[in-house]
Amino acid sequence: MKIYLYGIREDEKGYLKEWDKAHPDVEIDYTHEIFTPETAELAEGSDGVVMVQTQPYQRAALKKLQDFGISKISVRNVGLDGFNFQDLRDFGLSLTYVPVYSPNAIAEHTTSLILRLLRRVPEFDKKFANADFRWFPTIGEEINGKTVGIIGTGHIGSVVGRIMMAMGAKVIAYDIAPNPALENLGIYKETLDEVLEQSDIITIHTPLAKKDIHMIDKDAFDKMKDGAIFINAARGGLVDTDALIAALDSGKLGGAGLDVLESENDVFQKKFDSIADVKDPQFQALINRDNVIITPHTAFYTTTAVHNMIFDSLNDNLKMLQGKAPKYPVDITE
Ligand code: NAD
Repeated sequence: MKIYLYGIREDEKGYLKEWDKAHPDVEIDYTHEIFTPETAELAEGSDGVVMVQTQPYQRAALKKLQDFGISKISVRNVGLDGFNFQDLRDFGLSLTYVPVYSPNAIAEHTTSLILRLLRRVPEFDKKFANADFRWFPTIGEEINGKTVGIIGTGHIGSVVGRIMMAMGAKVIAYDIAPNPALENLGIYKETLDEVLEQSDIITIHTPLAKKDIHMIDKDAFDKMKDGAIFINAARGGLVDTDALIAALDSGKLGGAGLDVLESENDVFQKKFDSIADVKDPQFQALINRDNVIITPHTAFYTTTAVHNMIFDSLNDNLKMLQGKAPKYPVDITE
């Protein structure tokens, strides 16, 4: 039995070896390349494939899997917005994903974005680089006592909520399907607008469903408190970036922490000679601001998360190949 992995990074290789050692009956092979119509050929002769990428999974590439008699795909992450399920149905492909590899990784990163903005770390870093160690006027704010609004209280949002509560914040939340584990806390508001209007800090943790593209638009920013801080460590497409830039320009928004961007595929996971060489206009409009922190989709990036992504995806791919029920199947019927 052979499983082929796409998009393998250096930091994943140790965990891959570990899994390989524990499964002597399974042959594994990999490429650093992502899955495209050109690289699909590499999987020929394999039984299953495991992949992860932010670029869309192209129909022509998926068709080739069918041609090679491969029907089991496992992705090593949670986001499935790169797939057109119709393609999977057309080519008889089954899919698994890793919905929970470490919610704490993203929740802790979200917390660090909030703290770095409140304590004005980018400004202190600049001053420090100029050997300026004076405090004034770079005075910070505390999470304790602030109202933190969480949009989407699933695996990640619920952990963010608990961290914020432990730090003394008043947590309020909006979710189309409130989390039973949090319902007794009395945090839920009936509408998204209430959360937008009442929060000092707003952090979004919903999936990117088609209906939710630009959920946070000009109207949403207009409803926020003056000087609110906005965090997005979910998906770039949830936010109308031009509206975000306008809200920062007008001073309506007090700061933004962004681990994801609408145009991140052109920027993140790439090396440029300098920031000025990044041609993306939205990135350029955001990057040189003291009250904006951008991280290159690294919220998930911890040893715990990477281990779980490799192990859970390979375990599920193998289960499918053995005709057993995988732990995390994806319902591709809709
Ligand atoms: P989840 O499915 O566990 O939770 C999502 C929650 O959002 C659910 O409770 C759901 O009911 C709610 N929801 C859905 N649509 C909504 C809407 N329109 N309004 C309000 N609530 C809504 O998902 P999760 O694992 O917590 O992931 C949350 C987000 O984080 C996803 O977008 C995921 O892709 C992203 N993510 C980012 C990183 C990163 O490195 N930055 C890593 C993992 C996940």
